Amino acid sequence: MRHFSHAVVTGGAGFLGSHLCDRLLAAGTRVTCLDNFLTGGPENVEHLQSNEAFRLIKTDVTDFIHIRGPVDLVLHFASPASPVDYLRLPIETMKVGSIGTLHALGLAKDKGARFLLASTSEAYGDPQVHPQSEDYWGHVNPVGPRGVYDEAKRFAEALTMAYRTTHATDTAIVRIFNTYGPRMRADDGRAIPTFLRQALDGAPVTVAGDGTQTRSVCYVDDTVAGVLAVAASDLPGPVNVGCPEEMTVLALAQSIVSATGSRSPITFVDRPVDDPMVRRPDISLIRRELGWQPQVSWNEGLSLTLASLTAPAPA
Ligand code: NAD
Repeated sequence: MRHFSHAVVTGGAGFLGSHLCDRLLAAGTRVTCLDNFLTGGPENVEHLQSNEAFRLIKTDVTDFIHIRGPVDLVLHFASPASPVDYLRLPIETMKVGSIGTLHALGLAKDKGARFLLASTSEAYGDPQVHPQSEDYWGHVNPVGPRGVYDEAKRFAEALTMAYRTTHATDTAIVRIFNTYGPRMRADDGRAIPTFLRQALDGAPVTVAGDGTQTRSVCYVDDTVAGVLAVAASDLPGPVNVGCPEEMTVLALAQSIVSATGSRSPITFVDRPVDDPMVRRPDISLIRRELGWQPQVSWNEGLSLTLASLTAPAPA
């Protein structure tokens, strides 16, 4: 396992990025966080501002990236990530996946740093192979509404491989599956924060379609541990990081209603266009190579998430 002295995290003020910053700092790594606060915000890293090893720079990584001094790890997490966000910000999403990735790769190349791309299970699209292993090429509709995100990530993967083969940059690609936990935005449109907000407000919990479509959800601490294990290895990827336990969306909604003690009814709404029917990672590769697998059960993760939402605000 390698130790890193100075990591640059693009999108570090977002949900996953902020947890990565926490974990890197705890491991003794200096962290520079680059974020334009498009879908994240400084409040996610507020608790780190007094830490001398942490620096937050407000910048758009599609403009340019310049960092003084040595850097030995670049984690490229900047990108709108929830359907509500990338459907509202299609061009920004494609720019950060293409030009932003180019700039982040350029930084890693210049500094001789390890580079890790946050790709996504959406690279598999609406999959025709189940579960999804890394050698599956996917089933993506490039001209559908979700194409802006899926294709930006697929382009980013191809660009990452081009830097590896052309410039010998030390690169890694992780394909992250649905992750949940504290600091998700309640209004980001993803199923878990939406159901939690609705259940806590006593509003109807809106399940898309008939709720038989499946998702595999991973608690954020597990995802972050998986990402950092890949970063500290020599694996080029792509490597799936996610939880192989599959649940129907209806079962997710029901367990959220019950965990919150809510009296909310469950109602059914239209399914979004190109919404995948099934989603489950095959994590044999990361399990075999790095011994990583999720540790936090859905019930445990749900109560940790709920506790973060209902905790009294600091005085
Ligand atoms: P998020 O929206 O909370 O975080 C993304 C961050 O990137 C935000 O803070 C945003 O302000 C920043 N950003 C966007 N464009 C930028 C730009 N041009 N310059 C600088 N900063 C910019 O989303 P997240 O859920 O934390 O996702 C982070 C990364 O992980 C994304 O790349 C996403 O595709 C990937 N991912 C997340 C999940 C998940 O379940 N959360 C699953 C698969 C992949």
